[in-house]
Amino acid sequence: MKIAILSQDASLYSSRRLKEAGEERGHEVRVIPYLRCYMNITSSRPSIMFNGTPLENFDAVIPRIGASRTFYGTAVVRQFEVMGVFSANESQAISRSRDKLRCMQILAREGVGLPVTGFAHATQDIDGLIETVGGAPLVIKLLEGTQGIGVVLAETYQAAKSVIEAFRGLDANILVQEYIKEAGGADLRCFVIDGKVVAAMKRQGAKGEFRSNLHRGGNAESIKLSIEERTTAIKAAKAMGLNVAGVDLLRSNHGPVVMEVNSSPGLEGIEKATGIDVAGKIIEYVVQNAVSADVRAVVNY
Ligand code: ADP
Ligand code: MG
Repeated sequence: MKIAILSQDASLYSSRRLKEAGEERGHEVRVIPYLRCYMNITSSRPSIMFNGTPLENFDAVIPRIGASRTFYGTAVVRQFEVMGVFSANESQAISRSRDKLRCMQILAREGVGLPVTGFAHATQDIDGLIETVGGAPLVIKLLEGTQGIGVVLAETYQAAKSVIEAFRGLDANILVQEYIKEAGGADLRCFVIDGKVVAAMKRQGAKGEFRSNLHRGGNAESIKLSIEERTTAIKAAKAMGLNVAGVDLLRSNHGPVVMEVNSSPGLEGIEKATGIDVAGKIIEYVVQNAVSADVRAVVNY
């Protein structure tokens, strides 16, 4: 098969591993910087161009869209979809998962365990907002942050109020969340492919740090999930409509709660912590589900 990895950086661990895993299995794999793709949006023969030549005959794409590039990245994925090319994750599902608030609302509707979360627009409503999540200590998050940047722990009511006021003063959208203290600065990353957890790791924040992000100096180890944790991760990925997802859970007193669902989960941390060939599993999933370009050509005639 001919597979495109949509990634801005071919030298990243995840891009390299996907390419390698595809080639090991006898496929042709190209890493394509999606910001350099341009599109011809016509109904007769929609196409996608790169460097002056059309990207033709791809059987599948694996999107690795950066958080700050969601708008253009998902447009490129959508164009491949219009052309009938299978995408590991649908453009719609990627957009859906990128907005933390929307993500929480969808998960809540599906009955997935979540930290108590509040959201408000007006600064007059800060007191009410803080009360909604049970008062301080609480966690305040920028809606579009990643890698732990924009996630703040406010230990007291006063601190919470000033941080919320400051963010709102900059017109930043935030959500306010119950602080899951008992998680002890750790979270669980569950890597879900096609409705199964294929690998899981526990990330522990650096000493004195409540955020477990590896980018913030946390470390990771392989972990065995409980049945409840496993079903929660699977349910969360399904609710978001993601075939490939990194579901992050916290171990709370009231069971596993989902913090976020990532549509382009990194491979380095999980493969190194677990020794599992996650890239290979993604390739195998894509190959099983893609309709080859040759077959599509026959159907279109
Ligand atoms: P990001 O998208 O920036 O990674 P997260 O929502 O995943 O933001 O938060 C970063 C980290 O902060 C999490 O991995 C977790 O360790 C910690 N954290 C986030 N929310 C909570 C919470 N409600 N209670 C306890 N710890 C939290
Ligand atoms: Mg996170």
